[in-house]
Amino acid sequence: MMHAYFSDDQLRHHGKTFIVAGEKKPIPEVPERADILRTAVSRLGLELRAPDDAGMAPIAAIHDEQYLDFLQTIYREWREAGGSELVIPNIHPFDRNGPYPRHHTGKAGFHLGDTSCPVLETTWHSAYASAQTAISAARHVRDKGAHAAYALCRPPGHHASGNIAGGFCYLNNSAIAAQELRAKYDRVAILDVDLHHGNGTQHIFYDRADVMTLSIHADPMDFYPFFWGHEVEVGENAGIGFNKNYPLPLGSGDAVFLEALDRAMAAIDDFGADAVVVALGLDASRDDPFGGLAVSPDGFSKIGEKIGTLTCPTVIVQEGGYVSSTLAENLYQFLSAFGVTNKNTTLSEGPK
Ligand SMILES: [Zn+2]
Repeated sequence: MMHAYFSDDQLRHHGKTFIVAGEKKPIPEVPERADILRTAVSRLGLELRAPDDAGMAPIAAIHDEQYLDFLQTIYREWREAGGSELVIPNIHPFDRNGPYPRHHTGKAGFHLGDTSCPVLETTWHSAYASAQTAISAARHVRDKGAHAAYALCRPPGHHASGNIAGGFCYLNNSAIAAQELRAKYDRVAILDVDLHHGNGTQHIFYDRADVMTLSIHADPMDFYPFFWGHEVEVGENAGIGFNKNYPLPLGSGDAVFLEALDRAMAAIDDFGADAVVVALGLDASRDDPFGGLAVSPDGFSKIGEKIGTLTCPTVIVQEGGYVSSTLAENLYQFLSAFGVTNKNTTLSEGPK
């Protein structure tokens, strides 16, 4: 059976509030999400395993040392200066080429890209554990010859760049998993099916040809993260042609999503990926509180089935997907259609 990973340390972070339309609102990225997703995993008969602690090296392969220090120290610095229990900045730089600020508010503005990634006392512990969950899943596939593994990552990661948090994300679990796979596989693709564009992942690999990034998402002209995720963003320098965006009109349902997925799968095939990371957001659901797209539970089954035709090793990393009546069902449908039994013995038969 497919290995699945999760650590209870991932439940400690709870961002509580973020700012929407100028008001403080409850943050939807709650620990309860993980509890709901766990019910789908157990319904599939999968055992959730605690990740190993692989230390900082795999995380530092993606994120700047200054940023990692910030995530571990800013809460105490902020509190000692009289700040509230949520580190949220009130200014952001035009660009980040100038001197690094000494002041805690300046550091917060430098590293926190928006108001939906507050740093709390527990944030680092949960983000670190979430990254370890992704690393264990990647290493199970890379080192043990498994066809696939599932990482129940929470907090999510795909909006975090090398040195900037954003959109409930602190450490880019999918990027960390992809880099782990690169130690064995020459060409790795990250296929992001979250409702929101994976702007952090795109940024991290934008000038690289060894990791192709593909994202299917609600059109950023009308939807978070607004400034990234357009088709014209194709990569830069050596990375030109290795970043693919598939923005979809708001409210798109199964048929439109699946058509974009066909194009993305064809691009992965043309690239000749040796391994794939699926950045599995479930917030494209028609029942998700974000309401950007309208994928049905049957649609998630078809998405899982299509991605399950990949014959190369695959690491499934949980991204978004918020509390709704079908959150568990959508994960169940995806994973069961993807296939949770070991496919090693059937690989020679080719795609099903
Ligand atoms: Zn999302």
